[in-house]
Amino acid sequence: MLARQDLAGRGEREAIGIMTPAVSLTGLTKRFGDQVAISGISLDIADGEFFSLLGPSGSGKTTTLRLIAGFERPTSGSVRLHGRDVTKVPPFERDVNTVFQDYALFPHMTVGDNVGYSLRVRRVPRRQRAARVAETLESMRLGGFESRKPSELSGGQRQRVALARALINRPRVLLLDEPLGALDTKLREEMQGELKDVQRGAGITFIFVTHDQHEALALSDRIAVFGAGRIEQVGTPSEIYERPATPFVAGFVGASNLIEADLAARIIGERGRFMIRPEKIRIVGVADPVANGDCTIVGTVRDIVYLGAQTVYVVSVSPDRTLSVVTQNVNATAIDAQAQKDREVRLVWQRDQTMALGSGSPGTSLEAGA
Ligand code: ATP
Repeated sequence: MLARQDLAGRGEREAIGIMTPAVSLTGLTKRFGDQVAISGISLDIADGEFFSLLGPSGSGKTTTLRLIAGFERPTSGSVRLHGRDVTKVPPFERDVNTVFQDYALFPHMTVGDNVGYSLRVRRVPRRQRAARVAETLESMRLGGFESRKPSELSGGQRQRVALARALINRPRVLLLDEPLGALDTKLREEMQGELKDVQRGAGITFIFVTHDQHEALALSDRIAVFGAGRIEQVGTPSEIYERPATPFVAGFVGASNLIEADLAARIIGERGRFMIRPEKIRIVGVADPVANGDCTIVGTVRDIVYLGAQTVYVVSVSPDRTLSVVTQNVNATAIDAQAQKDREVRLVWQRDQTMALGSGSPGTSLEAGA
């Protein structure tokens, strides 16, 4: 058996399939006329990964997905699938399938015909086709729905049919463009679990486009955060959340308090850009003792947002700055929360929970007690 260090170059590694990324994007740029949709995207996605492209509307996620699928040609840069350069290869010759937000099911066909469509196009014999359709429907918990029309299904069932149709070809890579976008919150959460199960069970690489940070954090092995056509950061959910690379990532993924300029000098003791998550801050009495090295500032509670399980306190700490604090309502009720309005309070948090924000590399936490 070959050890990794015995393998000299990329070519040899790829020849036996070790470490070859499922998807490799290099310097990918796409312009539509004057509009730059994405610019210089480079990314390796490992085989079997659940990888999310997360970012606000218009940041270039769908364009990136369409370039991987082959529906668009890049202005420059390359796309490799399992080591093969497919930049100029048409979509139907790529070993990928796409699930769209609107499912794109054929309304006049039954569930069975929808799911078996691509096998029919490829002239797979009828009996083999029927067996594969039945097996795929069963695996998506759609047994017994074969002769229904899409209009006779719920949103979640339709989504599962779309998934079944994409999975029947056993693609090595599945591209999912906001596949849960049309579902209500409850169903969305249910389907998230199912997606993850399908991905784990089938061992397929999933590339998942979403603008929903909770969804990306809950599902992904790794996430690429997109902002204005560029990747701001790639990392595991906890890296993205705990160590955001840029103020953009800190603001887009989870709530965050940005501390800079005079406020940073007062609290941290140096000017710079820092970030503290609202759930890391504790509210105590103004006169309460503060542990040595903790960060602290006194402010006035301006606003209270009661959310059932949690309460958000908006605390003004200077004439033009507020910090948000999130507390779990372990014992507190809405009435207790409202009683804090206009009170003077002290905010305290551990110094090593404060992130120093640079640009490009993960934020570093301040040393405790420094
Ligand atoms: P959303 O979450 O809203 O789908 P997105 O992050 O997927 O957004 P893209 O659809 O990739 O963003 O679009 C990126 C940019 O490229 C946007 O400014 C968009 O207007 C532009 N764009 C995308 N497709 C085209 C096109 N066919 N012609 C012109 N501009 C386009």
